[in-house]
Amino acid sequence: MIHLPVAVADLTEALSLARRLARSLAPTPQVDVGGTTVSAEDAQHVRHWVLCDRIMPERRRCGRRADHDGGCLPVDEP
Ligand SMILES: [Zn+2]
Repeated sequence: MIHLPVAVADLTEALSLARRLARSLAPTPQVDVGGTTVSAEDAQHVRHWVLCDRIMPERRRCGRRADHDGGCLPVDEP
């Protein structure tokens, strides 16, 4: 588990930054990008899922935000 502190204004900004970072790390096989979560420094037991992570055809995972509307897209597509 890698904890990576960031300085952002709120949860929305933290989730957005985490999504960008997770997508950029998708090609790194040691990283489980679908398991990425965000928490406040003073409430680390409350975790917010970053990605949808549903299984898609060809065993790819959805890289859109958690609870997104519309269809899923692979993690390596915008
Ligand atoms: Zn999805």
